[in-house]
Amino acid sequence: MSSIAENVKSIKQRVAEAAVRSGRAPEDVRLCAATKMNDASRVREAIAAGVDICGENRVQELTEKFEQGAYEGCPLHFIGHLQKNKVKNIVGKVELIHSVDSVSLAQEINRRAAALGITQDILLEVNIGAEENKSGFAPDELANALDEIAQFSSVRVLGLMAIPPICEISENNRVYFRRMKQLFIDIGQKKYDNVCMLLLSMGMSADYEVAVEEGASLVRVGTGIFGARNYK
Ligand SMILES: *Cc1c(COP(=O)(O)O)cnc(C)c1O
Repeated sequence: MSSIAENVKSIKQRVAEAAVRSGRAPEDVRLCAATKMNDASRVREAIAAGVDICGENRVQELTEKFEQGAYEGCPLHFIGHLQKNKVKNIVGKVELIHSVDSVSLAQEINRRAAALGITQDILLEVNIGAEENKSGFAPDELANALDEIAQFSSVRVLGLMAIPPICEISENNRVYFRRMKQLFIDIGQKKYDNVCMLLLSMGMSADYEVAVEEGASLVRVGTGIFGARNYK
């Protein structure tokens, strides 16, 4: 077995065990491979090994690999920071955009989706660690943002996403994952048009097990699957 296949197998096992520890079924949590900087053949290997989703960070990289057929047979998500002028290259190509961090970005996605006659599913990114250089809504901005985004009839908000502060010890991020789960529950109890709190995207290579224990339904794992990225 290739190392990618071995890694996927062991991560899926750990995700499944963490799901059971959180009182859920293994299939309630999906593994999204964070494929940035991995070429089409490595992406295909991960798909063959059984990842549920491919998540791409950069529009240009996604477009190139898309044209190479890298994601065939696998749902594709966009997980990175998205600039408004690149929205047109993404809408309709991806099943879910995890990283919507402003009302104006949601509005642009809505505009492009409406032009295509589709509904684009999105998550709202929350800056749960209140980090200055990180994008995402502050928790107390979410209610107002949802009031506005609920009016965009060609986007549907399916949940929340977060990237907590980088940590050495995964246990230290448990508090952030818990806060995300609470926000998710609180929003889910309100009634907004075009909003349905189904998905909680949190947890990466270093902390996905803790994230799943605290309620993640999508984990985004890169290095754990592919090994260290080679930033040139
Ligand atoms: C790269 C990336 C990940 C995966 O990070 P790893 O630490 O390599 O698992 C997850 N989410 C986003 C948004 C990313 O950009």
